[in-house]
Amino acid sequence: MSEYKQLRTYMKEVILRSLATDKGLKNYFTGVPCVNGHISERDTKHCYCIECNRIKAAKQYKEDPEKCKEATRKRHLDTNGESQRKYRLKKRNETKIINELENK
Ligand SMILES: [Zn+2]
Repeated sequence: MSEYKQLRTYMKEVILRSLATDKGLKNYFTGVPCVNGHISERDTKHCYCIECNRIKAAKQYKEDPEKCKEATRKRHLDTNGESQRKYRLKKRNETKIINELENK
């Protein structure tokens, strides 16, 4: 970690997990180093160190880039395609039912 980046993390405001959860924040910061010595933010939901997670993801990508790309593709396909199509169908059916009820 560069000196500037380290300084920047030191200057971060301490936000406890409970407060972050209440505020609906994705990350929180304790200022306490993780097992690997990173003074970094942590994920509110799963408590993992953001820096450790970044390193792990980079390592996984280096080992098998195609697998990572495929996983990302799948994730985006799902969020942009299938789930939206289902939502539109559901809304269309709801509208149809409402129209039928109103016309009776
Ligand atoms: Zn870490």
